Amino acid sequence: MILKSIISPFQKVLLSRRLCVGCTFPLDKAPRILQLSDTKFMLQCKCKRRYVLDKALNAYRRATFDEERLFIESKKQ
Ligand SMILES: [Zn+2]
Repeated sequence: MILKSIISPFQKVLLSRRLCVGCTFPLDKAPRILQLSDTKFMLQCKCKRRYVLDKALNAYRRATFDEERLFIESKKQ
């Protein structure tokens, strides 16, 4: 939990700059891999971390566990 409180603000800064928190790749260039709703797209960085673009907020965040699971399910079809 201590670790998380140190890392989290840094990750927020990177995400607010639209960069991957793992490799700082520009997320605007990452391919969209799944449409979650009218305003939400999942995308995958080249380092395999997955993010969600919320078009309503025009912001990126890490994909949740449930969203990761949706993606895995969609690949099985
Ligand atoms: Zn990355």
